[in-house]
Amino acid sequence: MIPPGQTIGILGGGELGRMLAHAAERIGYRVHVFEPAAGSPAAEVAAREFNAPFTQVDALSTFVKGCAVVTYEFENVPVEPLWSIEKIGQLHPHWNVLEICQNRMREKTWLRKNGFPHVPFTEVEAGDDLHAGIRRMGTPCIVKTADFGSEGKGQMKVTDAVTAEHAVAAFAKQRAVVEKYVDFKCELSVIVARTEAGDLRAFPVAENIHTKGVLDFSIAPARISDVVRVEAENLAKAIAAKLNVVGLLAVEMFLTDRGEILVNELAPRPHDSGHYTIDACVTSQFEQHVRAICGLPLGDVSLSSPVAMVNILGEAWKWREGQVAAPPNWAAVLEAPRAKLHLYGKAEPKIGRKMGHFTVCADDANRALDNARELKAKLSGRS
Ligand code: ADP
Ligand code: MG
Repeated sequence: MIPPGQTIGILGGGELGRMLAHAAERIGYRVHVFEPAAGSPAAEVAAREFNAPFTQVDALSTFVKGCAVVTYEFENVPVEPLWSIEKIGQLHPHWNVLEICQNRMREKTWLRKNGFPHVPFTEVEAGDDLHAGIRRMGTPCIVKTADFGSEGKGQMKVTDAVTAEHAVAAFAKQRAVVEKYVDFKCELSVIVARTEAGDLRAFPVAENIHTKGVLDFSIAPARISDVVRVEAENLAKAIAAKLNVVGLLAVEMFLTDRGEILVNELAPRPHDSGHYTIDACVTSQFEQHVRAICGLPLGDVSLSSPVAMVNILGEAWKWREGQVAAPPNWAAVLEAPRAKLHLYGKAEPKIGRKMGHFTVCADDANRALDNARELKAKLSGRS
């Protein structure tokens, strides 16, 4: 066990690292952040920051030696430099979990090999014929880059010959997966925590609404049957156990009209769809990650109240000719009953950049979502 008072290292300085640092510090840990750029959202709230490229093994070693345990808050940390730090420190989740989850092709192949329900897909190696891949899968389908895709970037929907040509041009010389387009009933996610001893705990299933490939709203509890809920939780737990994750694993899923659950994506870290846990669960996903990587008992995951979470992107600012004309109407959220505003301390808003989120609790999930939609409109002055 790594007791409070010790130092936790976080690779990556984004908002997930910032909220992780908040949770760690609340129970007495010191936090060091390793992030190439200075002044990141996580570094602002950490005791120390180290700025160097992730590939600089010397700097990484110094960082690791100063921490009792190291974790990561984003998936695009290169894996190779992590091999050498294995001998001098503890990394959770293990780099081989990261290696699988940071590449779509490896992730989907892993799901298939281990018999977990997933969206049908076919692999296309760099330089191979993408047309043939699209034909194998049939339309409609989605072409996704194998590496470094996120927030709906690096994806293209193909419905006909014209969109197929666009995809072939866009994905030339890239490794890609071609996935069947799923006409899902809703999107779900389960965030599960696992300790080294194998204890597993799943947060309440969240229902997620994406806009242009980016998470817009999360609702908990998800408006699904008990059968689907239990199946989703068990599936996430089984995947975390099979991967030997120590820490959090977020499992994104599609629920089809036929009641089938298909895994879409895995993320071995805190997840946007779990932000609601800060304000609406006994233990937040961030605290749970700290508990899991430090070998503390896992916390109570019960939901204290139905809740909706809204991601706040740069779009919430008023823009005129590419320049910010006015900030969002923060007062609208701050004044609302049962609402909580979280901002990530990023200096400059940009279109598509995640600037913060807010949650609204209510007596039921539908009411929470209605109130969240209303507040979202007020925030950006559109009502
Ligand atoms: P990212 O890494 O950008 O989150 P995802 O694969 O999760 O990539 O895709 C983002 C969103 O795009 C999903 O949450 C979903 O709304 C939509 N999407 C992705 N793949 C499919 C698919 N095969 N069928 C239908 N919608 C999809
Ligand atoms: Mg996703």
